[in-house]
Amino acid sequence: MITLNGKSVYGGIAIGKILFYKKKGKSVKRRHIENAEAEKKRFQSARTDAKEELKQLYIRALEDMGEANAMIFETHEIMLDDMDYIESVENMIETQKINAEYAVASTSDNFAKMFEAMDDPYMQGRAADVRDISERVINHLCGAGEHRLKLSEPVIIAAEDLTPSETVQLDKDKVLGFITMLGSSTSHTAILARTMNIPAVIGVGEGLSEKYDGRYAVADGTAGVIYIDPDEKTMASMQKKRSEEIQERQLLEEFKGKENVTRTGKKINIFANIGNISDVGLAVKNDAGGIGLFRSEFLYLENDTYPTEEQQFRAYRQVAENMAGKKVIIRTLDIGADKKIGYFNLAKEENPALGYRAIRICLTRPEIFKTQLRALYRAALFGNISIMFPMITSVWEVRQIKKIIEEVKTDLKQQGIPFKEVVELGIMIETPAAAIISRELAKEVDFFSIGTNDLTQYTLAVDRQNTALDAFYDPHHPALLELIRMTAENAHAQGKWVGICGELGADMEMTETLLDMGIDELSVSPAMILPLRKKVRECE
Ligand code: PEP
Ligand code: MG
Repeated sequence: MITLNGKSVYGGIAIGKILFYKKKGKSVKRRHIENAEAEKKRFQSARTDAKEELKQLYIRALEDMGEANAMIFETHEIMLDDMDYIESVENMIETQKINAEYAVASTSDNFAKMFEAMDDPYMQGRAADVRDISERVINHLCGAGEHRLKLSEPVIIAAEDLTPSETVQLDKDKVLGFITMLGSSTSHTAILARTMNIPAVIGVGEGLSEKYDGRYAVADGTAGVIYIDPDEKTMASMQKKRSEEIQERQLLEEFKGKENVTRTGKKINIFANIGNISDVGLAVKNDAGGIGLFRSEFLYLENDTYPTEEQQFRAYRQVAENMAGKKVIIRTLDIGADKKIGYFNLAKEENPALGYRAIRICLTRPEIFKTQLRALYRAALFGNISIMFPMITSVWEVRQIKKIIEEVKTDLKQQGIPFKEVVELGIMIETPAAAIISRELAKEVDFFSIGTNDLTQYTLAVDRQNTALDAFYDPHHPALLELIRMTAENAHAQGKWVGICGELGADMEMTETLLDMGIDELSVSPAMILPLRKKVRECE
């Protein structure tokens, strides 16, 4: 048995024969040409044909796989209009008097290498996209049609790398899994594997080679491991793991694509809570209607110094783009209390949960807050971003936030940096004070999201970190339920929507009660979305 390790992209176990997919290596030959103008025209016409083909692919993918997946083709169409790309090809044709095919292939190589050399894994993932669009143009220049891999039996597809269009065009019913030598976990192929629910292990490296074509294998997408010629013991344990996963998935698959609607017709939104960019895949996989809470702290926790505006912009933009137009609520920095970060140099406190945390840090260190707001307003151009502020206790705080936002917008305008002018703004209701004055707060913002984890802690005066107090930490306490009811009523009186993003949102004993109170949205961990949908559909 041979064991190979790679990156896990999508869980699940694939067992079957390997088919090693070799691209029909179109070796592009360099030719000398006389008429550069005519060659540039050939390039432009191939580019137009490639764009038309991408339009058709978009329509096909939209029907088969939904908007999130189809967007890849739209993105590719836009990439083909990139002026740097076009100018690079045309300059090569003009200055070196070379054929269009060779100029496209060289440009593709240069651009892909440039992306691969970048530090950011998201940008590295774009190398595959450049190669994909270039190959499409070269196909048209050569008069070759689209290359589609025909599968006669179910197989595990192995490849050096797969372009997004190759992935989408595979016959899904015959693909047991994907295993690739290259690929980043944020490449579109990886995103597609996740949304197509196909086990995938990528970035396996040189260990995966053509010599395994036709060999029997197990790809464990959850662990990111491939076993070639598995021994009996491995096979038995993998089969067991697979049947458990299948059972669980089948139950939930039934609820994918279904509405979150009660028996009596009340519809609500079920969104996902995420704490990291890589969780977006989980949200999509579990059919989240949006992201209800993106805990942006991770960007700060992972760094040894303040994350830059650019770093933050890329992260927010990526989440927004991956969610393809669905709502993404990003919560601003909620640091302090249990979440300590060395470089913030926060003083030791007697009562950190009641201390210098979240919005209190942002309002007293506006330079940190402004960097995050700039990144958020810029990223909002790339999707449906809303911004939410944690630990609010007063109207004054909200007005201060809005003042700082205006300053940020003025700066961006003066610097000529594009940003979205109007972004939905909400606050977390996680202190008793906020719930009690929710009538006033509702006039100031677009929505509320109730953070029941902190609201329980502050209402009952029970430290949520102290496990010795578990018996006293009761999120079903009537005082808490009364605060939630009040908050919902006050939000609705002002025509604003109200959600819950604390753990109580996933507590199915409470679903019926929360729906009765008029809660419009529940944001829960991705794995809870489908079980909760099932529950909502059973509610009266
Ligand atoms: C909450 O307090 O309920 C909440 C969602 O925020 P966090 O758990 O991140 O404090
Ligand atoms: Mg909280």
